[in-house]
Amino acid sequence: MSTRFDVIVVGAGPAGLTAAQQLASRGFKVLVIERGKKPGSKNVFGGRIYAHVLDRLYPEYVKEAPVERWVRRERVTFMTEDAWTTVDFETTKTEHRSFTTYLTNFVEWLGKKAESAGAVVVSEVPVDSLVIKDGRVVGVRAGNDEVYSDVVVVAEGINRLVLERSGLAPKLSPDIVALGVKEVIKLDKNTINERFGLDEDEGLAWVLAGYPTHYLPGGAFIYTNKEAITLGIVLYLKYGYQLDIPIYELIEEFRLHPLVKRLVKGGQLLEYSAHLTPVAGLNASPPNLYGNGYLVVGDAAGFLLHLGIIIRGVDFAMESGRLAAEAIIKAHDVGRYDAETLSIYGKMLEESFVLRELRTFRNAHKVLMEPRLYDDYVKLINKALARYFDVDGTPRRLGSTLLEAKGNITLLDLARDAIRVVMNL
Ligand SMILES: Cc1cc2nc3c(=O)[nH]c(=O)nc-3n(C[C@H](O)[C@H](O)[C@H](O)COP(=O)(O)OP(=O)(O)OC[C@H]3O[C@@H](n4cnc5c(N)ncnc54)[C@H](O)[C@@H]3O)c2cc1C
Repeated sequence: MSTRFDVIVVGAGPAGLTAAQQLASRGFKVLVIERGKKPGSKNVFGGRIYAHVLDRLYPEYVKEAPVERWVRRERVTFMTEDAWTTVDFETTKTEHRSFTTYLTNFVEWLGKKAESAGAVVVSEVPVDSLVIKDGRVVGVRAGNDEVYSDVVVVAEGINRLVLERSGLAPKLSPDIVALGVKEVIKLDKNTINERFGLDEDEGLAWVLAGYPTHYLPGGAFIYTNKEAITLGIVLYLKYGYQLDIPIYELIEEFRLHPLVKRLVKGGQLLEYSAHLTPVAGLNASPPNLYGNGYLVVGDAAGFLLHLGIIIRGVDFAMESGRLAAEAIIKAHDVGRYDAETLSIYGKMLEESFVLRELRTFRNAHKVLMEPRLYDDYVKLINKALARYFDVDGTPRRLGSTLLEAKGNITLLDLARDAIRVVMNL
């Protein structure tokens, strides 16, 4: 392997591989370094990719990408131990807005795209740190080896030890991350279609709050693939210490809940994984998204939008990878890769959906960290509906049932929380 490249990309996830493919296809000599066995082997997500970003990058993706099912059904459930209330949205529109997939397969596909554009992808090499000389990033260090380049794209994901060790990001605080645990359960296609009310190739994305996290901030998810379902739990780490059981047992309990048990009956557990995820949006960003000789993309940059019922990381990762590539191409034309020249990356991010959306929802995590949303309100909804539907000759209006069920929650709390949710999510 040559020891000098135009660009080194640290991390073969959606962000890094997009940057690599874009640069290699424009003639840049690109090296991608991945610590996992191969691209995709270390990547974890819930299950769905919003396709808008692929329309521009890979217009042929509908035929080529490892799509499992197109999401046409969305569910949100507020669940307690013995009752649950679900909002179920379905559409007959068949345009391709989002699809379920295995991130491992999707990233492997992106890896092949980058390689066929000419990028060199090296696996099973963990980068230790960036090589910084005279205040400028000039390459990366892995063990005793140093590899040099004009510019480095840091795409190492949320666990950004390379940035930390290089003095470019502080340690992650529990306030800005959540831990996700996930299982893949094999079921045959017809069983999935029957149990989840789906037609051929139709997919379901489902989030559930309350009981799955012992009423702490976070939630559960279920996605349908062709012949398996993925289910998982995400818990805001800030509240981890309040949990009375180890986090990995939450998923076991969730799988055994009466609502879920009948859906996974007869299924075979194929896979278990766990991963951190940034949940504080831009509040999880390192101090600088670019500097002399480097740019930061994807989760490592805090580019994840978490709105409780929507989680979007992959489209943000890919778009930031694309913009980093554009910025490097422009810097190459100027002939310099210093912070001033690379600041074009910041400008392009500002004009893109990445920063526009993350800024719009910059307070979402504060609302989503409010424990009342997962505890009092989940219990209130189910208690009120249980009473309302329990006809025993006592006259009950919906309003009085709600007032009875609200317990210690004041009407002021209710009004304030409703306004915060509507204004920030
Ligand atoms: C439980 C869970 C559910 C999620 N659900 C969704 C969802 O449904 N939809 C969605 O869009 N997003 C979802 N996300 C978020 C999504 O997975 C991420 O936003 C996305 O993967 C970020 O891509 P990335 O390329 O920035 O980082 P990653 O995918 O984390 O890739 C980083 C890569 O860098 C490698 N790496 C790390 N350190 C080094 C090193 N030192 N040297 C070499 N290589 C290194 C890693 O092995 C990895 O391959 C979810 C996340 C979690 C945890």
